[in-house]
Amino acid sequence: MSTAIVWFRRDLRLADNPALELALRRHARVLPLYIHAPREEAPWAPGAASRWWLHRSLTALQRELQARGAALQIRRGESLAVLTDLLLRSGADAVYWNRLYEPALVARDARIKQALRALGAQVHSANANLLAEPWDVANGQGGPYRVFTPFWRNLRATLQPQPPADAPARIDAVTIDDALSVDELGLLPRIAWDAGLHASWQPGEAGALATLDAFADAALRGYATRRDEPAAAGTSRLSPHLHFGEISPRQIHWRLVELGQERGAVWREAAEPFLRELGWREFAHHLLYHFPQTPQTDLNPQFAAFDWREPAADIVSAWQQGRTGIPIVDAGMRELWHTGWMHNRVRMLVASFLCKNLRLHWRHGARWFWDTLVDADLANNTLGWQWSAGTGADAAPYFRIFNPVTQGERFDADGAYVKRWVPELAVLPFKSIHAPWKQPELLARSGYPAPIVDLAASREAALAAYQASRRDRAAGSGSPGADT
Ligand code: FAD
Repeated sequence: MSTAIVWFRRDLRLADNPALELALRRHARVLPLYIHAPREEAPWAPGAASRWWLHRSLTALQRELQARGAALQIRRGESLAVLTDLLLRSGADAVYWNRLYEPALVARDARIKQALRALGAQVHSANANLLAEPWDVANGQGGPYRVFTPFWRNLRATLQPQPPADAPARIDAVTIDDALSVDELGLLPRIAWDAGLHASWQPGEAGALATLDAFADAALRGYATRRDEPAAAGTSRLSPHLHFGEISPRQIHWRLVELGQERGAVWREAAEPFLRELGWREFAHHLLYHFPQTPQTDLNPQFAAFDWREPAADIVSAWQQGRTGIPIVDAGMRELWHTGWMHNRVRMLVASFLCKNLRLHWRHGARWFWDTLVDADLANNTLGWQWSAGTGADAAPYFRIFNPVTQGERFDADGAYVKRWVPELAVLPFKSIHAPWKQPELLARSGYPAPIVDLAASREAALAAYQASRRDRAAGSGSPGADT
């Protein structure tokens, strides 16, 4: 009877899981395996909020497997050594996994594939987590895209939704007796700071499907108009589920198609802007795959000599802890700390504030997000930060600087979001909630801090630094306008 190892990584689901599906089709028995090897992801080993999610997601996967007669074999250590050991001990002759796209993991998986094949094992990898492989979408010259709209036009035109495979009803599995429990991985925090995470999320495949159902019923129809309002439940909150592969973009796409068929043209139209956001996720993976240096380095070399400020500890911690004195920025940073998630519009605002008003390199923000987001994702986080800083592909130009007061007035018009996360400002009339310094007496009574920077002056300083870097470059290259 032939046996195959199914190596679960960030595809923590049983439905629409091509590695599992293929292994079950071709082999009599499988050995479902998870290897905890954070060092292999360095320098982007999962942060604290991601580890919290992973603990809960592995527990959920373990439950789903047990309900089908199988057990998740959890191991710790070097992945190749664990796989080699288990191949020998289980008598398996094949290994199946779904692909990942982070540069360190692409390199690791290539090494492992070669080594296992040299040992005589069959190795099969599949695409479980993207609508299209990053190398399958190419521009007219056969190269990668750097601009989203043509990338999406190309990908959208070729999407062929297929009904995703259901989870298997039964799994004939092999067990080897020295597996670890999820608890033994030590993923949970020692000091309990995670109450807000518990209250906000249900990690695991069932939680992902329930989240999609709730979004389809309540918010999808109004997504285009409400997705920018941070106080509204106007977006799907599927990002951590997608990151851990508890649901696939193909399953979501198929669900959108079904809804369109059941409910008609209005729903088909409503689904399109949402699908386009999944397109941004695809674009982020496309960029990370083709420009693997970008988690550390500006994609746009124009910024190599930009005059970023040295990060002063008190300024950085005011930003991290939501004490900058700019209400919508602080609301976002507190939402992040409490729930492990932040609304997209507010992510853009806190990032613009860090990179432009505080003039700190985007890497400082990306690192903090990496540790605190439950959806921390190297592709999406890199794209989000480089876009906000103006250093990336198809980015907001550096000179376009968000004004957090007018953005707050526009997208949080009644101040509900700020009041929720910065309750000390609830004493202010809503007209001043986004600029409380205009009411100095009330501000003093509220205990809320004064702004750590003057928004107008810091904006001018950022623009001056940008102009100076352009002048330096033009002088250096001897060609004025070389970077336009
Ligand atoms: P929805 O609006 O419901 O969108 C559905 C899905 O589309 C999301 O779950 C996500 O997978 C994808 N998506 C939506 N917007 C984007 C986007 N701009 N870029 C890439 N994919 C997108 N997203 C992450 O998943 N992980 C990150 O680490 C991350 N870091 C970010 C950092 C910054 C500075 C910025 C500006 C954005 C970042 N994003 C990140 C993108 C975006 O903010 C989140 O994906 C979104 O807020 C998740 O909420 P949602 O699931 O309700 O989104």
